[in-house]
Amino acid sequence: MRELISTDDLHEGICQMASQITSCYGEQPLTVIGVLTGCVVALADLIRQLHMPLRICFVEASSYRGATERGPLQLQAESLLDVVGRDVLLVDDIFDTGHTLVEVMQLVETLKPNSVRSAVLLRKLGRQEVELQPDFVGFDIPDEFVVGYGLDYQDLYRNLPFVAALDPDDLQADPRQESRSEI
Ligand code: 5GP
Ligand code: MG
Repeated sequence: MRELISTDDLHEGICQMASQITSCYGEQPLTVIGVLTGCVVALADLIRQLHMPLRICFVEASSYRGATERGPLQLQAESLLDVVGRDVLLVDDIFDTGHTLVEVMQLVETLKPNSVRSAVLLRKLGRQEVELQPDFVGFDIPDEFVVGYGLDYQDLYRNLPFVAALDPDDLQADPRQESRSEI
């Protein structure tokens, strides 16, 4: 495992993203929708740098997958707040192929918000398969599998206070462990 983004750099990136979000919304009320489970650490740090009236709810995205490959996406949205006429900011951990954010965005659009924008902690360069780009990005990273600061490998490492890249030796894919996983 190699450290890619230090705790101090993460803090700085979150603060920069928060100031861009503040420039965009000013003091307007905001509804933040976090994409579980990977968003939790970035979201907790980000919202404490935002000072407009703010509501928080979550959508759970999960996919059938093995070690690092994504499968069909399922969304659980029962706990969303009413967002009719509201300004909504989606927060996710990482923008990889982009399909997750596109699907969550489409779901939220059906709920008739005033606007929907997106913020991601990380964007992997050269991986996108969709036209959408996030409105706010913390860090662009190379195409490596990363863990920490909310991101997992087989449900572990979310609690690391930094972002690390896993080397091929760390990625011991075991097909018996294939399961429905929260992303
Ligand atoms: P998408 O490909 O739809 O943009 O991303 C799907 C999800 O896959 C992300 O929200 C994230 O949970 C997971 N993901 C993508 N790349 C990585 C990675 O490098 N590390 C980890 N831990 N999860 C990733
Ligand atoms: Mg995620």
